[in-house]
Amino acid sequence: MKEAHSEIDIDRGKCIVCGACSAVCPGEALIIEGMTLRVYPERCRPCGQAALVCPTGALHCPGEE
Ligand code: SF4
Repeated sequence: MKEAHSEIDIDRGKCIVCGACSAVCPGEALIIEGMTLRVYPERCRPCGQAALVCPTGALHCPGEE
């Protein structure tokens, strides 16, 4: 059984700033700004879509379970 996540959680050591999560997040809670992934947790719906597309497993979001 997967662990439930109550907030957006990014492992910065694993994130390659690819933008995949930003592209699918309907609330625009994940935004690429320069070379950084910025998080706006108040915009999270939560739907969990972004965590499903992260290629490195760096991202966990509410709703992904
Ligand atoms: S999809 Fe994953 S690796 Fe890509 S920017 Fe988002 S958190 Fe980082």
